Amino acid sequence: MSTLFAAADKENNSLTPNILSMEKNLKFSNLNRDSLIKSMGKDPFDLVVIGGGITGAGIALDASSRGLKVALVEKGDFASGTSSKSTKLIHGGLRYLKQFDFWLVKEVGSERAIVHKLAPHLVLPEKMLLPLIEGGSYGKWLTSIGLKVYDILAQVSGDDKRQMLEKKEALALEPLLPKKILKGAGFYAEYRTDDARLTIENIKTSLRYETKALNYAEVKEFLYNDEKVSGVKVIDRIGGKEFEIKSKYVISAAGPWVDELRSVNNSKKGKRLHLTKGVHLVFPHEKLPVRQSVYFDVPDGRMIFAIPRGRVTYVGTTDTNYDLDKDHVTTDLADAIYLISAVNNMFPKIELELEDIESSWAGLRPLIHEEGKSTSELSRKDEIFTSDTGLISMAGGKLTGYRKMAERVVNRVARKMKEDYDLDIEESRTAKIPLCGTDFKKFKHVKKYIEEVFERLELDGFSEYDAWFLVTNYGKQTEIILENYAVLKDKDPHIRMIKAELQFGIDYEMVTNPMDFFIRRTGRLYFDIHSVRSLLEVVLDEFTRIFKTDKDQIALWRSALEKELEEHSNFSVDRI
Ligand SMILES: Cc1cc2nc3c(=O)[nH]c(=O)nc-3n(C[C@H](O)[C@H](O)[C@H](O)COP(=O)(O)OP(=O)(O)OC[C@H]3O[C@@H](n4cnc5c(N)ncnc54)[C@H](O)[C@@H]3O)c2cc1C
Repeated sequence: MSTLFAAADKENNSLTPNILSMEKNLKFSNLNRDSLIKSMGKDPFDLVVIGGGITGAGIALDASSRGLKVALVEKGDFASGTSSKSTKLIHGGLRYLKQFDFWLVKEVGSERAIVHKLAPHLVLPEKMLLPLIEGGSYGKWLTSIGLKVYDILAQVSGDDKRQMLEKKEALALEPLLPKKILKGAGFYAEYRTDDARLTIENIKTSLRYETKALNYAEVKEFLYNDEKVSGVKVIDRIGGKEFEIKSKYVISAAGPWVDELRSVNNSKKGKRLHLTKGVHLVFPHEKLPVRQSVYFDVPDGRMIFAIPRGRVTYVGTTDTNYDLDKDHVTTDLADAIYLISAVNNMFPKIELELEDIESSWAGLRPLIHEEGKSTSELSRKDEIFTSDTGLISMAGGKLTGYRKMAERVVNRVARKMKEDYDLDIEESRTAKIPLCGTDFKKFKHVKKYIEEVFERLELDGFSEYDAWFLVTNYGKQTEIILENYAVLKDKDPHIRMIKAELQFGIDYEMVTNPMDFFIRRTGRLYFDIHSVRSLLEVVLDEFTRIFKTDKDQIALWRSALEKELEEHSNFSVDRI
């Protein structure tokens, strides 16, 4: 195991300022792609992880911090599958109580506070309002008991315990609620995050323990030794070359693609995946000015979130069967109309229209099929399949439960290592490993740091939102971006800042193309889509300068981004 961070882990379970400078030594850049590929093909690993979504990222951190030598490969960008398309909540899943999934609620409910502690700048407290409506599916008495059970299962304490609100109190918190039919509300604690950033920070944290991770690297086949999986054949989707990674064990954390890899391994039998699509729409906050997050039921019995976030509000989600192209999941007109009607129905003063949609995203839940169950009845529990040839696959689960999922599957590898090699590995300790960017002990320190960053940037014309964005995206790594910013010479501070941010992404976060940057490292395509339009050319020019990218490639990226902008935001009737 790397000794670099071990001392810090042991001493105070927190990053010291010195460690931020050590993190600067951990470059994670496609500028070093060739040597990274070479090192992956050289010595055998203990474990190869297929898939750089939250499941694979969590496994890489758990396994490497327990002393295993780990390689992770991702066929697209990190978090380009489901893990950038969730509702972005670290939540207990109140609705699973209705399905009597107590075990799931207990595990993910308890995980919320742990994950918040590991990255308080990235997993932010978010109070949730559950309105009780005449004719709605939630009565006062049952909701009160349900939320109480939720608190008990998740061991919620102090101010975070649920409150039952009278109609007047609920309206004071959220005046947009339907006054005529409102009976009161439940009010309880959850957390909000950025799923793609949670994924990349887990991967980066695992680099401290010497994980080798590569994006745009697709597993095409398995290597076998005595009919047992002994590694993977990978195609580098950038350079085009094939290479092999040898390993004692292979875990497929390929999300919606798990069954495809089981087919490659000739082991797709028994349980199988059931994919359901979920869509979110983003509106300018002034069009849907909710003051706070609301979780409401719609006439068909589903539940929808409306979540304010910076300059926008997003709503979701749908839950429909899906069997089309997994690499290109889009929001249909029917999805958009469904969500807009649900919102307009719940908030009588709001009259959203298709033209108001600023952005959107659609993702697939990799759930386990259960005969005769509807999409929303399918359990969100995770499962592990081990094939006769030893391929371990993990599917199902939730973003919130990633840490425990990782621990469970690595425990299985530990048992195998004992059987096969008589080797012992340590217990999981990820509950005590702060993620990259964190040296905040409490959320109040995050808030203080946002104020500090704002004070430093205010004179250059940056807003409180800009400071909030930097800190909730990058935590203390904001310092590295501000160092980049300080040496740039462009007149316009916003141009300087985007260049500084991009340089950080290229040096430390494996940003390979403008989509990685605008969609998954910064979330701008979803939450600040206008900035993508205005900054696109600056970012393309920076790619030319830093990577010496040729004109044809730049033209391809420009049109790919324009397509993304169109697909995510244009729901006008003439497009459809
Ligand atoms: C609409 C929606 C809302 C959700 N909301 C929440 C929420 O608010 N909170 C919550 O806790 N959970 C939520 N979830 C669930 C959560 O998002 C998922 O459980 C989680 O993101 C799944 O992560 P994963 O890593 O297993 O899959 P993915 O993120 O899809 O990762 C799998 C990765 O494997 C890669 N891959 C596939 N094949 C190969 C190959 N051959 N070689 C290399 N790489 C490969 C893919 O490119 C992909 O990036 C939501 C899910 C959806 C769809």
